[in-house]
Amino acid sequence: METRTYECQYCRKDYVPKRRGVQKFCSNSCRVRSHQLKNKKPKGTEVTTGNNTKTDKTKIEEMSIAGVANSLGGNLAAQGLISLFTKEENKPATKGDLLKLAASLKRYHQVKNLPPNHLGQIPNFDLYKGEIVYFGLSLSFKN
Ligand SMILES: [Zn+2]
Repeated sequence: METRTYECQYCRKDYVPKRRGVQKFCSNSCRVRSHQLKNKKPKGTEVTTGNNTKTDKTKIEEMSIAGVANSLGGNLAAQGLISLFTKEENKPATKGDLLKLAASLKRYHQVKNLPPNHLGQIPNFDLYKGEIVYFGLSLSFKN
Protein backbone atom coordinates (compact mmCIF):
# COMPACT_ATOMS: atom_id res chain seq x y z
CA MET A 1 0.00 0.00 0.00
CA GLU A 2 1.27 3.36 -1.00
CA THR A 3 1.82 5.77 1.82
CA ARG A 4 3.28 8.57 -0.18
CA THR A 5 1.62 11.85 0.67
CA TYR A 6 0.16 14.19 -1.88
CA GLU A 7 0.68 17.89 -1.87
CA CYS A 8 -2.54 19.85 -1.65
CA GLN A 9 -2.84 21.95 -4.77
CA TYR A 10 -4.43 24.68 -2.77
CA CYS A 11 -2.64 25.00 0.53
CA ARG A 12 0.51 23.09 -0.52
CA LYS A 13 0.21 20.94 2.58
CA ASP A 14 1.25 17.31 2.40
CA TYR A 15 -1.65 15.02 3.07
CA VAL A 16 -2.52 11.37 2.83
CA PRO A 17 -5.13 11.11 0.17
CA LYS A 18 -8.26 9.09 0.73
CA ARG A 19 -8.61 8.40 -2.97
CA ARG A 20 -5.23 8.06 -4.60
CA GLY A 21 -4.77 9.38 -8.08
CA VAL A 22 -7.96 11.38 -8.01
CA GLN A 23 -7.58 13.61 -5.01
CA LYS A 24 -5.70 16.85 -5.52
CA PHE A 25 -6.52 18.60 -2.29
CA CYS A 26 -6.12 17.79 1.35
CA SER A 27 -9.67 18.67 2.17
CA ASN A 28 -12.97 19.58 0.64
CA SER A 29 -12.56 23.18 1.70
CA CYS A 30 -9.24 23.39 -0.20
CA ARG A 31 -10.88 21.84 -3.24
CA VAL A 32 -13.75 24.30 -3.03
CA ARG A 33 -11.43 27.24 -2.46
CA SER A 34 -9.26 26.17 -5.36
CA HIS A 35 -12.33 25.98 -7.53
CA GLN A 36 -13.39 29.37 -6.27
CA LEU A 37 -9.96 30.67 -7.22
CA LYS A 38 -10.29 29.11 -10.65
CA ASN A 39 -13.72 30.56 -10.96
CA LYS A 40 -12.43 33.85 -9.73
CA LYS A 41 -9.89 33.88 -12.52
CA PRO A 42 -12.48 34.57 -15.16
CA LYS A 43 -14.00 36.92 -12.64
CA GLY A 44 -10.60 38.56 -12.45
CA THR A 45 -10.77 38.89 -16.18
CA GLU A 46 -14.18 40.31 -15.63
CA VAL A 47 -12.63 42.84 -13.29
CA THR A 48 -10.27 43.70 -16.09
CA THR A 49 -13.25 43.81 -18.37
CA GLY A 50 -14.74 46.06 -15.73
CA ASN A 51 -11.71 48.26 -16.10
CA ASN A 52 -12.16 48.07 -19.82
CA THR A 53 -15.75 49.00 -19.31
CA LYS A 54 -14.47 51.89 -17.26
CA THR A 55 -12.20 52.83 -20.11
CA ASP A 56 -15.14 52.42 -22.42
CA LYS A 57 -17.12 54.64 -20.11
CA THR A 58 -14.37 57.21 -20.23
CA LYS A 59 -14.35 56.85 -23.97
CA ILE A 60 -18.09 57.31 -23.98
CA GLU A 61 -17.65 60.35 -21.76
CA GLU A 62 -15.04 61.70 -24.12
CA MET A 63 -17.32 60.92 -26.99
CA SER A 64 -20.20 62.67 -25.31
CA ILE A 65 -17.98 65.66 -24.64
CA ALA A 66 -17.10 65.60 -28.29
CA GLY A 67 -20.79 65.17 -28.97
CA VAL A 68 -21.59 68.17 -26.83
CA ALA A 69 -18.89 70.12 -28.61
CA ASN A 70 -20.31 68.94 -31.89
CA SER A 71 -23.80 69.91 -30.93
CA LEU A 72 -22.44 73.21 -29.64
CA GLY A 73 -20.75 73.68 -32.97
CA GLY A 74 -24.02 72.72 -34.55
CA ASN A 75 -25.80 75.27 -32.45
CA LEU A 76 -23.27 77.89 -33.35
CA ALA A 77 -23.60 76.94 -36.99
CA ALA A 78 -27.36 77.10 -36.61
CA GLN A 79 -27.04 80.51 -34.98
CA GLY A 80 -24.82 81.57 -37.85
CA LEU A 81 -27.46 80.35 -40.26
CA ILE A 82 -30.14 82.11 -38.29
CA SER A 83 -28.17 85.33 -38.31
CA LEU A 84 -27.66 84.90 -42.02
CA PHE A 85 -31.40 84.88 -42.43
CA THR A 86 -32.02 87.56 -39.85
CA LYS A 87 -32.82 90.88 -41.39
CA GLU A 88 -29.93 93.28 -41.24
CA GLU A 89 -32.07 95.92 -39.56
CA ASN A 90 -32.84 93.63 -36.66
CA LYS A 91 -29.23 92.85 -35.94
CA PRO A 92 -27.14 95.06 -33.71
CA ALA A 93 -24.46 96.69 -35.83
CA THR A 94 -21.05 95.16 -35.50
CA LYS A 95 -17.73 96.57 -36.61
CA GLY A 96 -17.94 94.25 -39.58
CA ASP A 97 -21.35 95.61 -40.43
CA LEU A 98 -20.04 99.16 -40.25
CA LEU A 99 -17.10 98.23 -42.45
CA LYS A 100 -19.50 96.64 -44.90
CA LEU A 101 -21.62 99.77 -44.79
CA ALA A 102 -18.56 101.93 -45.34
CA ALA A 103 -17.49 99.71 -48.21
CA SER A 104 -20.91 100.02 -49.74
CA LEU A 105 -20.66 103.79 -49.49
CA LYS A 106 -18.66 105.77 -51.97
CA ARG A 107 -15.26 106.59 -50.60
CA TYR A 108 -15.00 109.96 -52.27
CA HIS A 109 -17.67 112.57 -52.20
CA GLN A 110 -17.34 115.65 -54.26
CA VAL A 111 -17.27 118.74 -52.12
CA LYS A 112 -19.33 121.38 -53.80
CA ASN A 113 -18.66 124.33 -51.50
CA LEU A 114 -14.91 124.31 -52.08
CA PRO A 115 -13.24 125.71 -55.17
CA PRO A 116 -11.03 123.52 -57.35
CA ASN A 117 -7.30 123.75 -56.68
CA HIS A 118 -4.74 125.46 -58.89
CA LEU A 119 -4.57 122.37 -61.10
CA GLY A 120 -8.24 122.54 -61.62
CA GLN A 121 -8.80 119.39 -59.64
CA ILE A 122 -11.99 119.14 -57.75
CA PRO A 123 -12.09 118.61 -54.00
CA ASN A 124 -13.39 115.30 -52.77
CA PHE A 125 -14.01 114.23 -49.26
CA ASP A 126 -12.21 110.99 -48.55
CA LEU A 127 -14.56 109.06 -46.29
CA TYR A 128 -11.80 106.70 -45.19
CA LYS A 129 -9.20 109.29 -44.32
CA GLY A 130 -11.55 112.08 -43.38
CA GLU A 131 -9.59 114.43 -45.61
CA ILE A 132 -10.23 116.55 -48.63
CA VAL A 133 -8.38 115.21 -51.62
CA TYR A 134 -8.12 116.78 -54.99
CA PHE A 135 -8.32 114.77 -58.14
CA GLY A 136 -10.15 114.69 -61.40
CA LEU A 137 -11.23 117.70 -63.26
CA SER A 138 -14.17 119.78 -62.45
CA LEU A 139 -16.72 119.80 -65.20
CA SER A 140 -17.11 123.50 -64.76
CA PHE A 141 -13.49 123.98 -65.67
CA LYS A 142 -13.78 121.90 -68.77
CA ASN A 143 -13.55 123.99 -71.86
ZN1 LIG B 1 -5.23 21.88 1.47
